[in-house]
Amino acid sequence: MNVLVVGGAGYIGSHMCLCLATAGHRVVALDNLSTGHREAVQWGELVVASLDETSVVAETLRRHEIDVVMHFAACSLVGESMQDPYRYYQNNVSSTLSLLMAMRDAGVAQFIFSSTAAIFGDPQSDQIEENHPRQPINPYGNSKLAVEMLLQDAAQAYGLRATTLRYFNAAGADPQGRIGESHTPETHLIPRLLRRAAGEDLSVQIFGTDYPTRDGSCVRDYIHVNDLAVAHLNAMEHGRSQPGFHCFNLGNGIGHSVLEVVKAAERAVGVPLDIPFGPRRAGDPATLVASSRKAREILDWTPRHDSIDRIVADAWNWHRRPAF
Ligand code: UDP
Repeated sequence: MNVLVVGGAGYIGSHMCLCLATAGHRVVALDNLSTGHREAVQWGELVVASLDETSVVAETLRRHEIDVVMHFAACSLVGESMQDPYRYYQNNVSSTLSLLMAMRDAGVAQFIFSSTAAIFGDPQSDQIEENHPRQPINPYGNSKLAVEMLLQDAAQAYGLRATTLRYFNAAGADPQGRIGESHTPETHLIPRLLRRAAGEDLSVQIFGTDYPTRDGSCVRDYIHVNDLAVAHLNAMEHGRSQPGFHCFNLGNGIGHSVLEVVKAAERAVGVPLDIPFGPRRAGDPATLVASSRKAREILDWTPRHDSIDRIVADAWNWHRRPAF
């Protein structure tokens, strides 16, 4: 297949390009490099463009005879989305609409979308199934839910084959250390711990000690970025034979508390990190864990790197010597 990876210079997008190329597909990355890295595009051509450059997008779809578009390019910081919602509706909703219209005009019929656990808002169950109510509590989640609704409508009206994949906490890196997570600023727990361990001047705290969890810190479902990429590959195959709109939650189905992640980081790094406790971060639900049952059954997907030690060790392998 000829696959366009929008956001292919970013963290998850670049691991997707690696996964697709390894599986024998032809990959083209499209990225405006606003947060992505040119050095991360090592598998396939890079087209430097934004989605609002509609003629470049249309030309890219036609010239490369694209069969499937995977869309990773988005703003994804909850706090920023509360401060500047227009930016989220512009980048996450309006740009995606432009892309979908260009795909329709070019006759590209399959779309795989990066969605998020944030569409569910405050969880109403221990493990979040696909049919959990979609009630986001911030503009970031709203913007992703808006696209999910757009895709449901597009599948009905235009026959778009659309799959939306709701990520829980993406983490880890290419085990060979060729690519990894590199955000500025970095807000996520695992890379912050490891960048601090690698000597960066970062003050990291454990946000909250009084959540109703086993140790008082928040519980999240950390999923290896390579396992996420394989789920996309399987979703692409599934969407070829099953038209319409599909949704899957992607996590391991295992929750780890912040304290447990800190311990795993200490094991990976080999020294104590002495991370202090701090106040809660606004907007954090106590527990977010996926039910991965549907993806396991229908996509025939099994996360291979599901231990927190493996995830953190691969991330550390990157952060101790990041190439970009
Ligand atoms: N967290 C923390 N200290 C940090 C960054 C994150 O304690 O410096 C906590 C955060 O409150 C959440 C968990 O780690 O409970 C995962 O946060 P992250 O930002 O990595 O992902 P999110 O769950 O927000 O998508």
